[in-house]
Amino acid sequence: MKLTGVVCLTFAACQAAAREDEQVVFASSENAVAPLSVAIIGAGAGGASTAYHLSKFAAASGFAVNITVFERNDYIGGRSTTVDVYDDLTSPVELGASIFVKANHILESAFNLSTRSMVSGTSEIPGASLGVFDGIAFAFVQETNSLTWWESAKALWKWGLAPIRCNALRKTTVDRFDKMYDEPQFPFASLTQVVTDVDLLDATSATGENYISENGLTGSFGHDVIQASTRLRHINGLLAMVCMSTDGAKSVENGNWQIFDEMLARSNATTQLSTEVSSVTPGKDSTYLLRHGPSADSPDLTNHEDTSFDVVVLAAPHQFANITLDHHIAHIPEKIPYVQLHVTLLTSPHLLSPAFFNMPPGKPAPKTILTTLPPNEEPQQGAAGVGTPGFFSVSLLRPVTNPKTGVQEYLYKIFSPEPPNSTFLTHLLGLKQPHHHTERGISEEDISWIYRKVWDSYPYEVSRVTFEEIQLDENLYYTSGMDGFISTMETNALMGMNVARLIADRWQAKMAKGTVRGGMEAPTLLPSEGVM
Ligand SMILES: Cc1cc2nc3c(=O)[nH]c(=O)nc-3n(C[C@H](O)[C@H](O)[C@H](O)COP(=O)(O)OP(=O)(O)OC[C@H]3O[C@@H](n4cnc5c(N)ncnc54)[C@H](O)[C@@H]3O)c2cc1C
Repeated sequence: MKLTGVVCLTFAACQAAAREDEQVVFASSENAVAPLSVAIIGAGAGGASTAYHLSKFAAASGFAVNITVFERNDYIGGRSTTVDVYDDLTSPVELGASIFVKANHILESAFNLSTRSMVSGTSEIPGASLGVFDGIAFAFVQETNSLTWWESAKALWKWGLAPIRCNALRKTTVDRFDKMYDEPQFPFASLTQVVTDVDLLDATSATGENYISENGLTGSFGHDVIQASTRLRHINGLLAMVCMSTDGAKSVENGNWQIFDEMLARSNATTQLSTEVSSVTPGKDSTYLLRHGPSADSPDLTNHEDTSFDVVVLAAPHQFANITLDHHIAHIPEKIPYVQLHVTLLTSPHLLSPAFFNMPPGKPAPKTILTTLPPNEEPQQGAAGVGTPGFFSVSLLRPVTNPKTGVQEYLYKIFSPEPPNSTFLTHLLGLKQPHHHTERGISEEDISWIYRKVWDSYPYEVSRVTFEEIQLDENLYYTSGMDGFISTMETNALMGMNVARLIADRWQAKMAKGTVRGGMEAPTLLPSEGVM
């Protein structure tokens, strides 16, 4: 029995009609349609962007949507989060994603939050702004940050035209990527298809190294500069170009997570923090039943509930989400290797030791140090890929005042494949052997505050020509497939916007066909009561 186009008059009559035809329930006026109920699992860039854009698209199209965001952490932002230096709430520092760039359209246009340049704040401190260290010597040093890295690099005779060629290649690659934001590519139902359509397969299918050399960038420039910028991720050609797109690098004052907090606030979503989703099971009429309850680290593990939603968006890497996706679900995301990245934040009154970098005594070390492999050292896979330098980067982020002593100190961030031990830190900061032994092996006078975190940060962006599905089943979407293509705040926010558009378009199409589930709020008519 097809009831499309007919309006019920009474609540009881609607219930009877619904029992008669469970599969296709009806509504022809907007008022008769129940709000679309959407669950988003994860309040990081992907989930927050899905919520924000879906509420915008729904408002523009005139349909109602109820969005619930489940987040197992007690904070919004996921891999974009801060910690407080010296445990002082007024002094946050990025622990995860720290920069975005001019080319990042979604983040760039986010709400006029005050941003700051990544290089400000250290200009008074002695030392070059950037150095690329191969474990033995500096392959490249940029003295000032008044010119962009690229402008400076262009001036360097040693690389000839390579920086200019690289910049052109970077621009072409990023221009192709930009097409993913607009029609006819946007919205895209398949990541594999859109990557093919915007001509990015040559970039994603080659290793970063091959892509660069195939495009005429051979010689020491690749080793000295490109490898230093990109080697954390063992990357493909596309990411190599994205990593080099650092023009106008910036971050939001007091934390990039505020972008995602603002997105959620503006979406009017109900956000349930410290709430973990443990399973997703198909229900009636392509709906889903979500089991959710307090996060694993919460004291109350008993209070689990099942709630049904029309649409579910998994906005977290499935392999770390601890969610059972029912085996009837058409596609389960593939497990891929992620980089285990150790991030160490610390404060110290000491500057980096020139001796550690084999520099002459008295010459200050650069304030940001990226590493590359020494000449003739073969790159290796996994954590061993760090090679002779033993760490990926060290940055002096800003001067800080120790609240206990009132003394000016420096805030550092270290990226490494293993936790830096006290011997490494002692040499890095040029300390004498510790005189007061503490749990961490170094005196509090030398390292006054330290915070360590190991992240499943982002996938090794290996060469590939196919990418994860966006739609795992009808009404079940996945944003984190973007991680296997490029994992950044912007790209994952783009996938959130894309999924929001797919959901909105599909719901509108169903409304137009009259095949959406009927609502109970509006007065409705039975067919027998004759209103057509
Ligand atoms: C150290 C580091 C540095 C980085 N640097 C940069 C950078 O400079 N610039 C940049 O753009 N990107 C950077 N990135 C990458 C960037 O952080 C990520 O690409 C992006 O933040 C991912 O967003 P997301 O929302 O897709 O995933 P996530 O941020 O991981 O969000 C997923 C959320 O889902 C939640 N969740 C998972 N399972 C469940 C469950 N079962 N129930 C409820 N909630 C669940 C998680 O708690 C998490 O909050 C960096 C990442 C790291 C780790």
